[in-house]
Amino acid sequence: MAKRKLLCVLRHILRIDLKKLILALATCGVVLSLLNTLFASYQVHKEAFIKDTLHANQTYATKLAEVTQLFLQSVNSQLNVSAFHIAENIDDTSLVNAELERLLSQTNSFDSLVVASADGQIIAVRPELPVLGQSISSQQLHKVMLQKPVVLDPFVSPAGNLMISPTYPLFDGQGQYLGFVAGGIYLHGDTILNRLLGRHHYADGSYSYVVDKAHRILYHPDPDRIGEQVSNNVVIDRVLNGQTGAMELVNSSDKHMIAGFAAIPMTGWGVVSQRPLISILNQLAITHRSVVYSSVPFTIVILGWVFVVGFLIARPLTVLAKQLTVVENKNVSGAGVSAWYYEVANLKCALLQSHRAVRQVIRALDADRKTDKLTALHNRLSLDLWLENTIKFKVGFSVLAIDIDHFKSINDSHGHCTGDKVLKELAKLMIQNARADDFCCRVGGEEFLIFMPNESLSQAMITAERLRTLISNHIMPNGIRVTVSIGVSQWPNNSMQIDKVIEMADKALYQAKQSGRNKSCCLEAA
Ligand code: GH3
Ligand code: MG
Ligand code: MG
Repeated sequence: MAKRKLLCVLRHILRIDLKKLILALATCGVVLSLLNTLFASYQVHKEAFIKDTLHANQTYATKLAEVTQLFLQSVNSQLNVSAFHIAENIDDTSLVNAELERLLSQTNSFDSLVVASADGQIIAVRPELPVLGQSISSQQLHKVMLQKPVVLDPFVSPAGNLMISPTYPLFDGQGQYLGFVAGGIYLHGDTILNRLLGRHHYADGSYSYVVDKAHRILYHPDPDRIGEQVSNNVVIDRVLNGQTGAMELVNSSDKHMIAGFAAIPMTGWGVVSQRPLISILNQLAITHRSVVYSSVPFTIVILGWVFVVGFLIARPLTVLAKQLTVVENKNVSGAGVSAWYYEVANLKCALLQSHRAVRQVIRALDADRKTDKLTALHNRLSLDLWLENTIKFKVGFSVLAIDIDHFKSINDSHGHCTGDKVLKELAKLMIQNARADDFCCRVGGEEFLIFMPNESLSQAMITAERLRTLISNHIMPNGIRVTVSIGVSQWPNNSMQIDKVIEMADKALYQAKQSGRNKSCCLEAA
C-alpha cells in the first residue's frame, strides 16, 4: 500500500506538465544566460587584464632602462672628473689613491675603483684589495684599448666578486693615452644595481631583470641567477636587438609570463619586466568571485520571479485541464480558472462553449434514448433506470398495466396511421391525469405501465377505474372510441422482487381481459 502510494507520488513528481516545462525552461534560460554572462565577462576581463599588464610592464621596463642609463651616464661623468685629476698626477701614487678615495666617499656608485696603466696593469686600487700589480684580461684590454668610456662585461674580479666595470680613459696634457680608471660595481649583495632595480618587484610575482649583450643576467631578484647565460628566450632576443615592446611568452621554467621589455642604448643591455599569467588569473578569479557573489542574490530574485510568473501562466491551464479530464464532471464551469491572459481567456471561452454544446447534445441524446418515439412516454430503458432508483431508495409503489382492447381491429378498420394517433392520444390522457411523481411508460405496441410511488393498492384501484372510465368516455381521433383493460398490483417496499410485481399486474390485466375487457382488476402480493 505504502509502495503504491510512493509510486503514485513519484509518478506525480516525474510527470511532465506545463508548469514544470515553463519552470524548467525559464530556469535553464536564467542559469545559461548567467553562465554566458559570467563567461563573457571573464574573457573580457582576462583580455583587459593581460592588455593592461603588457602595457604596465612595457612602461615599467622603459622606466628602469631610463633609470639604468641615467645611472651609467652619471657614473661616466664621475669617472670623467676623476680621470682628469688622476691623469695629472699619474706618477704620484698617493695623489692617485687620494682621488680614488675621494670618489669612493663622494658617491656610493662604486664598490671599488682601480687605475690601470696603458698595458692593463693595475697600479692603484681602493679599497685596498689584493689586485695591485695584476693585469686585466686580454679581452678587457682589447675593449679599453678603444680609448673610450666603456662598460666592461661582467667578470669575476681577482678578489672573487662578479662585477661590471665602467671605465674611463686617461690622457696626459698632450693627449697621450696613459691607461684608464675603472669603477667596480658588484652584481651580488646589497649593491647599487640592486638598490636601483631590485626593490621594485611585487608580491604578485612581478619582477624585473637586466641582461647584457651576451645574454648574461646582470640583475635578477634571484641572486643565484645573476651571471647565468639565457638562451632560447624570445624576449631577450628582441630586447638585445634594441627593441622596446611587450608580449606573452613561456619562460625557461615553463611559466606563462606577460613581459614588457626595453633596451638600454648606451650599453646595449636590455631590461625585462614581467608578471606570471597565473598571478593575473588568480587576481581575475578573486574579482570574478565577487562578480558571482554579487550576481547570485539578483539571480535568485529573478528565478523566484520566474517561478511565480511561470506558476501564474500555467495555473489556469492546469485547472482547466483538470476540470476537463474528470469525465464525470458535468459542470465544467471554469471556476478557479483565472483567464488573465489572451490565450487562456480564449481557450476557456471556447472550451466552456463546446462543453456546454456537448452537454446539450448528450442530454438530448440521453432523453431521446429513454423516450418512446411515438407517444413521448418513457420507454423500457427509462423504466429500468427508474426501477433501479426505486429499489435503491426503497420507495413503495403501485403499478397499473394497461392494454387497449381490440386494438388490432382499430388498425384494421381505420388504418395503422389512425391507430398511431389513438396511441398518442391515449398517452396524452395518461400524462394529463398522472401526478408529478407518477411514471408513465409504453412497454409494447398498445401496452402501458403507470407506476405510482407511495400509492396503496386500493388507491391505485380507484385511479385505475377513473382512468379507465375517462378513456372509455373520451373521443379519440377520427371519432373512434376505445376501452382499456387495467391490471393493478403493488410493491409494498418489501423483499419481493419488482419483476414479480409487474408479472402480477400482467396477471391482473389478463383477468380483466378474461372477464370481458374494459375492466380493472387487482392482485395483491402474496
Ligand atoms: P386484446 O383486446 O386481446 O388486447 O386485442 P388486441 O387486438 O388489442 O391485441 P393483439 O395483441 O391481438 O393486437 C395488438 C395490435 O396492436 C397488433 C398490432 O397491429 C397493433 N400495434 C402494435 N404496435 C402498434 C403501433 O405502434 N401502431 C399501431 N397503429 N398499431 C400497433
Ligand atoms: Mg396487447
Ligand atoms: Mg390489446
